[in-house]
Amino acid sequence: MSATDTIQFIDLRAQQNRIQHQIEAAIKKVLAHGNYILGPEVKELEEKLAVFSGARHVVSCASGTDALLLVLIARGIKAGDAVLMPSFTFVSTAEVVALLGATPVFVDVKADDFLISPTSLEAAIQDAVKKGLRPKVIIPVDLFGQPADYAAINRIGNSYDLFVMADAAQSFGGARGDKRVGTLAPVTATSFFPAKPLGCYGDGGAIFTDDEGLGLVLRSVRVHGKGQDKYDNVRIGTNGRLDTLQAAILIEKLRLFPEEIEARQRVAARYTVGLKDIVNTPRVVPGTISAWAQYTLRLDRRDAVAARLKEHNVPTAVYYPKPLHQQTAYTRFPTAPGGLPVSEQLAQEVLSLPMHPYLEPQTQDFIIEAVRAAVNNV
Ligand SMILES: *Cc1c(COP(=O)(O)O)cnc(C)c1O
Repeated sequence: MSATDTIQFIDLRAQQNRIQHQIEAAIKKVLAHGNYILGPEVKELEEKLAVFSGARHVVSCASGTDALLLVLIARGIKAGDAVLMPSFTFVSTAEVVALLGATPVFVDVKADDFLISPTSLEAAIQDAVKKGLRPKVIIPVDLFGQPADYAAINRIGNSYDLFVMADAAQSFGGARGDKRVGTLAPVTATSFFPAKPLGCYGDGGAIFTDDEGLGLVLRSVRVHGKGQDKYDNVRIGTNGRLDTLQAAILIEKLRLFPEEIEARQRVAARYTVGLKDIVNTPRVVPGTISAWAQYTLRLDRRDAVAARLKEHNVPTAVYYPKPLHQQTAYTRFPTAPGGLPVSEQLAQEVLSLPMHPYLEPQTQDFIIEAVRAAVNNV
């Protein structure tokens, strides 16, 4: 790479250059038919996402946040209900619970893979019952793209009679064993925010389930709780639809997606080979495919390393600088017994490197050398 090239943290332009004509044709087609709301592309995308993921029913929606919210509305989550989730996540996971008047309960994660800790989860469920709450839902988060241990979590869900909803906003395209994201939990929510592994050109999201009844309720909640038609309101819903234009764009991007997921594996592997002897590189459980939304290191002097990298024009990001239980709006909610020491420590240590399927090997080697130099000199 030459000194004048800027390294992108996520490069959406490289992908656009590959499919510019297809995207423009798809947009033109929507402009020609004019069905901007729930047009034919929305149904086509849902069918293609069902085939891709293996889930029987796919309900597209307006964002990843809405995907989580629509499911909680469909399940009738309300005040007094407890919803368990990792604290080390993006705010949406907890926000949707609090919006419904229910109680988010924060659980710790594991240091090596950033995923919800089954031990902390079980302790938190028992503690929520003692506090007089009704535990109803577990939301594991597939942080940075790696699916959580759904076999273990579904087992805990079954034994306490809790519903499991995967927050797969970062992991669509990933898999665990022979199951793809979308089929690992009874219901899965994902996001098509532009920077996610499969992103549109605006906001978008989708919900995956094999439960036909739930799928039907979700379609109703997505359009103001409609019954026979939208002027027949049988339940309280919202406006949670995916735009036809975004669906048309996603159909084109989905064609590249399997190849891009492969490319992400190569990029992640190159980072790991280049860095694992000097820093904590991310651990992927054998048999698991991460969608590699982020490639995240753990470092002792994280801020100093990030500053050094910035001097060399290597962009980095910290996901997340503060766990949710320490956020002003969320400190009043319960945490698992014993506290959340791992979440708190990770917030100090994590640093995500540039990650996208179009990262060239030479650029990556430059980044790797810059990280090695920074780690050795701070
Ligand atoms: C991005 C994200 C969301 C929210 O998705 P939006 O489409 O931005 O609403 C929810 N949960 C996690 C873990 C995310 O990373």
